[in-house]
Amino acid sequence: MKAMLLLVLLLALLAACAPARPAPVELVQITASPTLAPLPTRAPTLAPAAGPTDTSTPPPSPTPLPTATLPPTATASPTPTRTPSPTPIPLCKERFPADDDLLALVSHDYGLAADYRPGDLVPLGDTFPSAVTRGYPTQVRAVIIPPLEVLIAAMHAEELRPFVVSGFRSYYDQNAARQKWAEQFPEWAHNISALPGHSEHQLGTTLDFSTPDLPYMVGEPFIEFHPAFAVSGEGRWLAERAHEFGFTMSYPDGKYEETGFNYEPWHFRYVGVELATELKESGLTISEYLLAAHGAPCRP
Ligand SMILES: [Zn+2]
Repeated sequence: MKAMLLLVLLLALLAACAPARPAPVELVQITASPTLAPLPTRAPTLAPAAGPTDTSTPPPSPTPLPTATLPPTATASPTPTRTPSPTPIPLCKERFPADDDLLALVSHDYGLAADYRPGDLVPLGDTFPSAVTRGYPTQVRAVIIPPLEVLIAAMHAEELRPFVVSGFRSYYDQNAARQKWAEQFPEWAHNISALPGHSEHQLGTTLDFSTPDLPYMVGEPFIEFHPAFAVSGEGRWLAERAHEFGFTMSYPDGKYEETGFNYEPWHFRYVGVELATELKESGLTISEYLLAAHGAPCRP
């Protein structure tokens, strides 16, 4: 009887324990194992993925940095930017405008390769008299000669006497010019002169104009660039009408915040009549327009 009771008790105990333990445990294990399984599998996959990327990324550390900087600007496309960034988007200072593109963005941030020079440079002296060239060996792109001829003729017709102080400037010439400015005006050099590779003059479509009146206006016999050009007959005419001939003033008054350059009433770039007129009417500078219209063409 005692033995029977013990046996029953033991069986009851076993019965109480047995179903209680296996059932929940198995249930938990069945539901838990599939759910848990992918998690550990995914986690390790992520970890190694991040690992190699991290270890391979540190050497070219400049690459991830601009990639991280670009998405915030173009908020909509963080993923597309990330994918092409390693190779197709060149550094700003390594750009060669395709087919001597007339609308290449050149600014303090967006520059040109040191070896870039347009393929159709011609001496200004082949077309214009020394009254216009001052006898300087200035070169410009052939594509701007016809519109420049029409513009100069229109100015001559109004008894104005514009001359061209500079046209195409190579990367190396710009370097020399910048150094000269930096020596003379260390604090202002950045606002009045671009770093090599960052001057629109390297495009061959940009001209600096002057007037024989400037030395008298400023009181310095050899001066060729001065903001006073803006109030000369030539300066006023160009500001008012250059767009009709396809030229735009790149650094107008009051645009320092946008362009990073002081007012340069003598500096005009050829962009075609249609765009020059659009810029004149909108008040946008060419660099503002290009940045808004085409976005970042390279990694700054
Ligand atoms: Zn200039």
